[in-house]
Amino acid sequence: MPKFARVLPDMSLDKTFDYKIPVGMDLKLGCRVRIPFGRTERTGYVVDLVDKCDFPENRLKEIAINEGHLIPEKMMKLGQWIADYYCTGMIQSVRNMLPAPVRKDKVKEKTQKLLSFAADIHPASLVPELEKKYPPRAAVVKALISLKEAPQGLLMKVANVSASPIKSLIKAGVIEEEVRHVERDPFGDEEVIVTQPLKLTDEQSDALKLIVDEMDEDKPATVLLYGITGSGKTEVYLQAIAKALERGKQAIVLVPEISLTPQTVHRFRARFGKSVSVLHSGLSEGERYDQWKLISRGETQIVVGARSALFAPFHDPGIIVVDEEHEPSYKQDSHPRYNARDIAVMRGIMDKCPVVLGTATPSFETMNNANLGKYKIAKLTERPSTAVTPEIKLVDMRTEAAATGTNQIFSRELIEAVKQQLHDRMQTILFLNRRGYSTHLTCEKCQYTSKCGDCSTSHTYHRKSDVLICHLCGDIKEPPRRCPDCNHKDLSFSGLGTEKIERLCRGVFPEARIARMDSDTMTRKDSHKTMLGDFQQGKYDILIGTQMIAKGLHFPRVTLVGVVFADAGLNMADFRAAERTFQLLAQVSGRSGRGDDAGRVLIQTYNPTHPALQCALEGDFDAFYEDEKMGREVMKFPPFSKMVLIHFRGPEEGAVASLASDFSRHLSPLCSKDDRLMPAVPSPIEKVRGQYRFQLTIFSDNIRRLVRVLNWMRLNYKTSAEYKIIIDVDPQSL
Ligand code: ADP
Ligand code: ZN
Repeated sequence: MPKFARVLPDMSLDKTFDYKIPVGMDLKLGCRVRIPFGRTERTGYVVDLVDKCDFPENRLKEIAINEGHLIPEKMMKLGQWIADYYCTGMIQSVRNMLPAPVRKDKVKEKTQKLLSFAADIHPASLVPELEKKYPPRAAVVKALISLKEAPQGLLMKVANVSASPIKSLIKAGVIEEEVRHVERDPFGDEEVIVTQPLKLTDEQSDALKLIVDEMDEDKPATVLLYGITGSGKTEVYLQAIAKALERGKQAIVLVPEISLTPQTVHRFRARFGKSVSVLHSGLSEGERYDQWKLISRGETQIVVGARSALFAPFHDPGIIVVDEEHEPSYKQDSHPRYNARDIAVMRGIMDKCPVVLGTATPSFETMNNANLGKYKIAKLTERPSTAVTPEIKLVDMRTEAAATGTNQIFSRELIEAVKQQLHDRMQTILFLNRRGYSTHLTCEKCQYTSKCGDCSTSHTYHRKSDVLICHLCGDIKEPPRRCPDCNHKDLSFSGLGTEKIERLCRGVFPEARIARMDSDTMTRKDSHKTMLGDFQQGKYDILIGTQMIAKGLHFPRVTLVGVVFADAGLNMADFRAAERTFQLLAQVSGRSGRGDDAGRVLIQTYNPTHPALQCALEGDFDAFYEDEKMGREVMKFPPFSKMVLIHFRGPEEGAVASLASDFSRHLSPLCSKDDRLMPAVPSPIEKVRGQYRFQLTIFSDNIRRLVRVLNWMRLNYKTSAEYKIIIDVDPQSL
């Protein structure tokens, strides 16, 4: 037994301290402990166990309490890796691995009073007598015979009585009350119909075999499951997970933004029932606490969740699945700024289990790793059975404008297609990658645009409430009636948003039942679920939405997807603009024709020759990848180098600018010829909530070395408290 424990107190200091281990205390890496600290006591985490310590032993204090093994040992190593690679403190990394309610341990366990018969009672023999004298009590006894045990409310409902006959039976000693600890159930009374494994297609069988074979390898590989939407990737995950469970192991399934894809969780529960737990931010604190405890006690074997589910405290995962691996939302935008996809691969190495990265449109990083032979590839090129891939068509809005003499939002072709859908009683999805009624308020004469005073972004005009909103800081303002600069009175609400599309839609298709889903309409906790459920049940004909509706949804009656304005994402100032546009188009197209009927996709654009659109048209990711790859290789953009973005923030513009260049000057001599240090520049959004922003980009061919340098800078380069330096390794947007 080691004699000393190195403990990281739960405070932002981010330093470890050594303690003696009391005789008989069974400490492991990842235990949470109480330690004497100065004059008080604190909570900390055991990060190392050692036999020798540099400190004189007689001056060391003892650990006070062992609160239990919270984080599996291998995950503590993963946590350290994350702290180092993403240039942050270990304490941030540890905090990040624990859901807040677990870390703070303030949630009370939920208890419930359960009623059952007292041990010496033969309930059936009581019934005849009670039926004569007290029919309600007889009803209670009969109900409880079938229920065996139940909370009072349920018993009242089943027996159809008030509380009083139950009280009488308790008094008489027939029924007993017991207080028991119960789990809060995030699934409520949601019904699931059990599904059986499907007979796999040949491609699916090959993919499954490739994955399952890795489970028995000493160093299991990461497998890219590269399958078009609707090709049955989920069925492969399900059957691979079953194999992991057969081996007595657990499974982790990551999905992007789970609240948007309740159907995915549903499919796992339909196959694995109570073995499935969930972890995501849509849960209440109590639910999250209970789900985590269930996992920790080994009472569930599968977790489906967002990014953070990767840190589920399973001791022996047998498979980790990352669905839609290309999704930018796997990247966390606060410390530690980790990418859950990349950390999943890391956890797979540490836990010796295969990692499956599923997607129809691999990220360039993943495709590159596969091409280099670092990952294995399984391809699914066809949809199983009846569903055929949708027919995709580009609608050239330039020729449309020339032909109709106006800039219409809906082309004639799209209008005809939607009308046909309504006639055939089929459903339509209209997609726009933007929210709000329109983007900005612009003066038609002097081009004045209303901007947020605190941030440097344009206000968005919201028609329903007739206000301008800044989407960065939430600033709300009444729109001016005349231009504040030139006093001109024609202000236009230019741009296009889902709200405007909805209004136009109601005009063009008055008979249609229309629903809109974007972050403006989806404010209540369950509103996604409700609206998607209603759409699924055919209560709407048309669903209008933003990228929220592009992902993972499965509606067999949707046979038309209209992309209203495909160009929205192409002009972003980001080297990933084309990649993102292609991914989004492929995904949203995949919503069409998932049932027995063939699907169509109409993509409206002013840029029909753009390679991202041309390749989306052909559904040819490989061609798009080859085309795009050349450009990135020439520029040495990721994945052909690694990138680090360093943000500088503070209240004075000049001071932030000099901080950025001073930091750069100190960093430069520490960099090697493998690093390309770009000049410090104002960020694309220069000011947010009164904070000015500058940034510094570094491309590197030796990221391990660079992060060591950056960690050194993090600990040694001092700024005043108002000024912040944020290091973002592998950023997902600029
Ligand atoms: P993906 O995850 O690749 O988008 P899904 O797993 O959602 O695809 O599969 C699309 C549809 O095909 C689902 O309705 C699914 O039940 C069905 N499916 C999947 N595999 C098979 C199979 N082997 N035989 C018949 N139907 C299948
Ligand atoms: Zn603002």
